[in-house]
Amino acid sequence: MSNPVVSTEVAIVGAGPAGLFQVFELGLLGIKAHIFDTLAAPGGQCTELYPDKPIYDIPALPICGAQELVDRLMQQIKPFGADFHLGEEVLTVRKQDNGRFKLTTSKGNEFDAGAVVVAGGVGSFQPRHLAVDGVAAFEGTQVHYKVKSAAEFHGQRLAIFGGGDSALDWTMDLAPKAAAFTLVHRRAEFRGAPASVARVKELEASGKVQFIEGVAQGLRLDGGRLVGVDIKRNQDNGIVPVAADQLLVFFGLAPKLGPIGEWGLNLDKRAIVVDTEKFQSNIPGVFAIGDINTYPGKKKLILSGFHEAALVAFAVQHYIYPSKKQFLQYTTTSPAMQKRLGVASE
Ligand SMILES: Cc1cc2nc3c(=O)[nH]c(=O)nc-3n(C[C@H](O)[C@H](O)[C@H](O)COP(=O)(O)OP(=O)(O)OC[C@H]3O[C@@H](n4cnc5c(N)ncnc54)[C@H](O)[C@@H]3O)c2cc1C
Repeated sequence: MSNPVVSTEVAIVGAGPAGLFQVFELGLLGIKAHIFDTLAAPGGQCTELYPDKPIYDIPALPICGAQELVDRLMQQIKPFGADFHLGEEVLTVRKQDNGRFKLTTSKGNEFDAGAVVVAGGVGSFQPRHLAVDGVAAFEGTQVHYKVKSAAEFHGQRLAIFGGGDSALDWTMDLAPKAAAFTLVHRRAEFRGAPASVARVKELEASGKVQFIEGVAQGLRLDGGRLVGVDIKRNQDNGIVPVAADQLLVFFGLAPKLGPIGEWGLNLDKRAIVVDTEKFQSNIPGVFAIGDINTYPGKKKLILSGFHEAALVAFAVQHYIYPSKKQFLQYTTTSPAMQKRLGVASE
């Protein structure tokens, strides 16, 4: 049986810094949101691409780690109780005759939203695929880009591809429990934590891991079943056949515009064209903020996304409640805002 349709004032697509701050700006106006992200954690590029790097251009924070910024935003938006849907990609957005929007997601859920704010950044992050012919036919059965249940790989012949933390972590975890284990990386150097690299080298020395410096060249099949992979070895360009029941590929994540490109929005170079008064797209009621939008002079900075979120909140309020009078209030002096923030003195 399908889940009941969930109704919300606003749906925010993307929980990067712009989407998170949108929750705050809407919350100040007393508007509640559901927020979605393909990734399992909030923070967008900050969390996914550079969590430990310091950011120096956030106003009033001379230095702030990227993950720290996300943690601070999560703390700041807490009073507004947004509903988070992480690990859930928004697949379709369709305007209804009544001006509201129907959204469907990768988890088969349906939402009915008064307005939509697309804060999709550079798009959904998707795993980089193994580039060999015929691989698509085995994705999800014998070729994997993430591990859902480690136990299903125990006792099997495994080949892991990659040289970062994920590849090393799963090598340490699965090599001792596999029937045979091969780690393939295009370079001799790994990008993971030094302690993990040392442990993997120990596993190689003890014979639990066969390491090949090279790249996948082709799949080995037997009667429609994947039985291994040919590796082109860097050292001499020779082909090494590796017997394997399961291939695990950890080449990292790459942003792809993904479903946003299918929603009938005017795009310019994979970005949503918006006005600079309301950051509204060509579809009234669909707004776009942060790295995903474009307008004359656009700069893809976190700061820009924050500014856009403030103006969008007023535009969203007007779209959903056209007869409501709008006026600017300050958080320092507005009792209504302080109540919403949970800081009002009795
Ligand atoms: C290495 C590096 C350093 C940087 N340093 C700085 C800096 O010092 N200062 C600065 O201002 N900026 C910096 N930036 C840029 C900054 O990170 C971006 O401007 C910012 O992350 C944009 O925020 P956003 O919320 O618009 O998008 P993102 O952070 O890209 O988040 C968008 C989110 O939307 C999700 N999404 C997309 N499509 C869907 C969908 N269909 N369904 C569900 N979820 C979806 C994605 O999974 C993603 O999590 C840096 C960027 C990089 C890569």
